[in-house]
Amino acid sequence: MISLQNQIILITGASSGIGTACARVFANTGAKLILAARRLERLQELAETLKKEFNTEVYLIQLDVRDRAAVEAAISSLPPAWADIDILINNAGLSRGLDKLHEGSFADWEEMIDTNIKGLLYLTRYVVPGMVKRDRGHVVNIGSIAGHQTYPNGNVYCGTKAAVRAISEGLKLDLLGTPIRVTSVDPGMVETEFSDVRFHGDTERAKKVYQGVTPLTPDDVADVIFFCVTRSPHVNINEIVLMPVDQA
Ligand code: NDP
Repeated sequence: MISLQNQIILITGASSGIGTACARVFANTGAKLILAARRLERLQELAETLKKEFNTEVYLIQLDVRDRAAVEAAISSLPPAWADIDILINNAGLSRGLDKLHEGSFADWEEMIDTNIKGLLYLTRYVVPGMVKRDRGHVVNIGSIAGHQTYPNGNVYCGTKAAVRAISEGLKLDLLGTPIRVTSVDPGMVETEFSDVRFHGDTERAKKVYQGVTPLTPDDVADVIFFCVTRSPHVNINEIVLMPVDQA
């Protein structure tokens, strides 16, 4: 297992769910955390807790990953002590709606495509050149079982996660010959704010999603990400699918 002491880890979507769980797992390793999301007050609360509990060094970025210029500005204006990102966790993402394609909402589609695909690409495009220059780094993309199995009415969300899977594979190939690692972590159902967001705050509908299944916790996913990034430098975990035992 490699040490994360002094490594700089950028986590997008750190204000909730899997991103927050990752921040908590890495906070206790001596790593320095850059936490990004739109809800700055959530990030501030999390940073306070991590500093108090683990004395973690944290740098916050209020960022909408859909805004390419904002992503470029955020990465290029990092203070020198934070600029050399070792691990990028592309976690920010969402689903909107659960509709038949021919009845779907254009706004929902655009939000999913812009966040899950384009946002992930922007971060990768601005962070990876530094990794190539320094000859070190690891990109972890949070995909989904939805990138492997298309479920009824999941059309566009599943399409975005299939794209994430293809992008992860493509990036791995592009970086062959360098020591930079690329991993796709693809969970099944995880109990987070994801379903509330999907149904635009309709919590009753959101709860029904988990009926009959004991979902993964955000910590389950963060543990797997921790495992992937702490393997020996010659080991690349290309893809991990983790599912609740009772989810098909
Ligand atoms: P949450 O809704 O709990 O967290 C989503 C995070 O993404 C939030 O921190 C949110 O922050 C951030 N985010 C969303 N849009 C943007 C944006 N435009 N710019 C910056 N940050 C953004 O859901 P999860 O933790 O479950 O989701 C994390 C990832 O896991 C997603 O990629 C999701 O697709 C994936 N996933 C989730 C599964 C599940 O069942 N929950 C299953 C498989 C994969 P803010 O709103 O503050 O910007």
